[in-house]
This record gives sequence, structure tokens and C-alpha cells, in this order.
Amino acid sequence: MTETARDQVTDSASADRRHRVVIIGSGFGGLFAAQQLEHADVDVTLVAKTGHHLFQPLLYQVATGILSVGEIAPPTRLVLRDQENATCVLGDVDRIDVETKTVHATAGHIGFALEYDSLIVAAGANQSYFGNDHFEQWAPGMKSVDDALELRSRILGCFEQAEVTDDEEERRRLLTFIIVGAGPTGVEMAGQVAELAQHTLKNSFRRIDPATARVILLDAAPSVLPPFGTRLGNAARARLEKMGVEVQLNAMVTDVDYHGIEAKDPDGTLRRIDASCKIWSAGVQASPLGKVIADQTGAEVDRAGRVKVAADLSVPGHPNIFVVGDMMSLDGLPGVAQVAIQGGKYAAKQIIADVEKGRAPEERAPFKYFDKGSMATVSRYSAVVKMGKLEIHGFIAWIMWLVVHLAYLIGFKNRLTTMFSWGMHIGGDHRSQLTSTKQWVYARQAIERVQADEAAALRSRMEAASRDRTAEKQATSVGRD
Ligand SMILES: Cc1cc2nc3c(=O)[nH]c(=O)nc-3n(C[C@H](O)[C@H](O)[C@H](O)COP(=O)(O)OP(=O)(O)OC[C@H]3O[C@@H](n4cnc5c(N)ncnc54)[C@H](O)[C@@H]3O)c2cc1C
Repeated sequence: MTETARDQVTDSASADRRHRVVIIGSGFGGLFAAQQLEHADVDVTLVAKTGHHLFQPLLYQVATGILSVGEIAPPTRLVLRDQENATCVLGDVDRIDVETKTVHATAGHIGFALEYDSLIVAAGANQSYFGNDHFEQWAPGMKSVDDALELRSRILGCFEQAEVTDDEEERRRLLTFIIVGAGPTGVEMAGQVAELAQHTLKNSFRRIDPATARVILLDAAPSVLPPFGTRLGNAARARLEKMGVEVQLNAMVTDVDYHGIEAKDPDGTLRRIDASCKIWSAGVQASPLGKVIADQTGAEVDRAGRVKVAADLSVPGHPNIFVVGDMMSLDGLPGVAQVAIQGGKYAAKQIIADVEKGRAPEERAPFKYFDKGSMATVSRYSAVVKMGKLEIHGFIAWIMWLVVHLAYLIGFKNRLTTMFSWGMHIGGDHRSQLTSTKQWVYARQAIERVQADEAAALRSRMEAASRDRTAEKQATSVGRD
């Protein structure tokens, strides 16, 4: 790859080269697609803005100190190092040129481009604040390793500050944790923050009792875990309440600031809850690359920005471009790992059949999703599992949750160390990852400020250049006159 000016095309086409597959994203969709292509007669380039494959379902365990980052986010290039036809590239893709079949990306200040014959887009989704992006500063979501480390430091920082303040009101605010969104992530976080406060941190402070912390799980919907149905939702709620979590439903968040949140009850009453630590897990918005694709191809996007794909997961009218996972919209399929895994594998198989067997795209059999069920943990020893009509909650569901999550973790060593960390946690409330730093709390805001400063500097340079050009033109025209 040439480190030159932005948008240098790294690979020029030639008649006798192999079919080139570019995959955007190293999450479930992207990684499983790449692995499916291992023995195919193609060259695979996987480009992602993060150098690791993140197992998002266990992020909350990093945020609450049970697992280390390495256990759930191995470097993608190490995962794929024995796959000879695969190359991993770190790059934030900002443009896809459908006409020239080129993907444009940047790695730091270096811009580069990758040409493709087939493209699989698996760039996932981001947190959605439903048009209130300013909430993010005070209520970060949990989508990335950075988010989890930031949340961990924020949570632990609140206990530390509560220990030293003499102001009783401020202490109450510091010991109030609000989790917005009662889906699986919100439920898991609420359960873990409560366990952290009541068990792990027990007797470790001298002026405060961490167990007095208030953990509030709040949602605008009328139930907990809506996709799991009323029975499992009620079971999860009962378990959380037994642990002391306050579950507030039918409460819509109308504002978030430094001090806390404002919520609206069904009768229109506005009320405030003061809390230092707010965690957002209320909605998702597909990667902006969905819109990039839609703008170029005329494909439709749904309200969450997901690309409406054809039955073979390709972009309508573009059989060589597949969109999979959280970015795709098809038959109301949910944004879960299995949809991404099966979608990624399916897209790769279509490319193999097209390239190796010369099959026409029109002959592709449609994608069929096999629903293996869904599960979420509520606390230690308690989970909910829904598999078709089968609904289980409690200890057996929790064992099933452990087995499935262990099976899907990437790498034998990661499974082994995760099993060990879980054993320590289950056996003795031990969390070995309770390190927190100031940098983790403030880095995101600092980066945003630096980026805003850089953008402003670039804008002012461009404006100055444009003013110079106008002045030059005027001078030339005066000279002519
Ligand atoms: C906290 C949390 C808990 C979850 N729990 C569960 C669960 O228990 N069970 C379940 O089934 N599902 C769960 N999910 C959902 C599941 O993780 C997602 O559905 C799944 O990860 C989607 O896979 P994906 O490949 O589409 O996207 P992702 O896994 O999100 O991967 C996206 C990839 O694209 C890369 N990327 C993004 N933008 C760009 C860009 N511009 N340029 C280059 N690369 C880019 C990212 O770096 C990443 O590698 C959870 C999600 C979260 C956030």
C-alpha cells in the first residue's frame, strides 16, 4: 500500500488477477464473511476502523470490571493471520464509489483507496439519541471498547468522589446511576452496576456504603426486554427489583445534562432525577455508510438508516455489493449477532458460487435466517432465554447463556481466560478489571474538541485560500482593464 496523498488507488485492475473482495467491518458480519472465503479463489481485503474483532455482547462485562478488553476484542489481523488470501487494513471508510468500484478510507492522516470486484459492507450501527445528540456528552452509550472503558471509569469515579465529598446532596447524586433503555444491554448493565455496588465494592470504602447506591433502569416503553415477551420481561424485572434496581417504565427522557436527567411520565408530568452517571442504551442508528450507498445507488434506507436489501442481501441493482448485519433492513430481522454472522457467511457463499461456478446473480437462492433464539443475563445465576415458543428464565437460562457466549468468543485462549475470570467472579465476587483512569473518562470529549479545532482550522485555511484566489482574479481583471 502506498502512503501518499489521500485517495491514492492502491491496486490497479489487470485481466489475469484474482477476483477482489473488499469487506468493510471486522465485527460479526465482516469477520465471518472473511473466514467463509478462506478457501475461495479470491483475494480478500478486510478494512475496518478498529483493529480488533469486538464481541459486543460482553462489552458490559468490560464496563463493569469482570473481563479485560483483550478477552473480547482480539486483533483481527491475528485472527486471520493463517488465512493466506486475507489482508487486514486499518481504515475509516468515508466514501464508496460505486461507479469506479472503489472504497476510500483514512488511517490517521493517510488516505488510501481499495478497488473491489465484490463488496461486503458490514459497518454495524451506532448509538441513537433520537435527534438529541447533545445527550451523548452526559450519557454515553456502549458500542465500542472506548465506550466500555469510559463507562467503567465513570462508574468507579462516582464511588470515589462520593467517598470524599462532604455535601450530602452531591453524594446522593454521585451514588445515583441511571441506565436509559430496558433492552438486553440496559438490563445487563443495571444488574451489574447493582452487583458491583452491593457485593464487589462491599467494605472497600470508609465513608460511604456502596450498597446504598441507587440504580435506576428507565424506559419509555411499558415493559422490560420487549422482544422477549411479557412473561420473560416480567421475570427479568422481578429479579432486578429483588436486587434493589428501581425500574421506571413509561418514562420518556426529555433532557440530559451534567446534573441528571429530565423525564416525562405518561400524564405529562416532567420530573428531574439528579445523577452523575448516566448510561444510554436506548436506540441504534445504522452506520452513515448506509446513506452513502443509498445516495449512489438509489437504494432505500429505513428510519434507522439501514439499507433495504434484496432477498440475496445485495443492494438492488448492484449484485456485487452486499450489505449485512446491523446495517441491513430485510423482513424486520433484528440487529443481533446471528443475523450478522449468517448474513456475512451467506454473502461470502454467493460470491464463491458466482466466481468459481460462474453462476449468474439472478440464480441466487434467497437468504434464509435461522433463528437460534435470543438470550440476556439479568444477574449472576439469572438469565432469560427465548427459543421459538420455549421461554426459560433463571439458573438454567443462565447456564445456557454462559455456554453460548463462550462458544462464540473468538480464540481458544480467550475462552480459557474468560472461563477463569467468570469462575473468579462467580466464586468470590472478584472482578479483576477495576482499573479506571481520568484519561478514559475525558478522552472522547478531548478528541471531539481536537477534531472540531482541526475542522475549524481547515475551514479557515480554505476560506483564506478562496479569498486569495478572488483577490488574485480581481487584480488580474483590474490589470487587464
Ligand atoms: C452492548 C451490546 C450488547 C449486545 N448484546 C447482544 C447479545 O447479547 N446477543 C446478540 O445477538 N446481539 C447482541 N448485540 C448486537 C450485536 O452485537 C450486533 O448485532 C452485531 O455486532 C452486528 O454485527 P455487524 O457486523 O453488523 O456490526 P459490528 O459488530 O458492530 O461491526 C461493525 C464493524 O464495522 C467497523 N466500522 C464501522 N464503521 C466503519 C467505517 N466507516 N469504516 C471502517 N470500518 C467501520 C467497526 O469498526 C466494526 O469492526 C449487542 C450489541 C451491543 C452494542
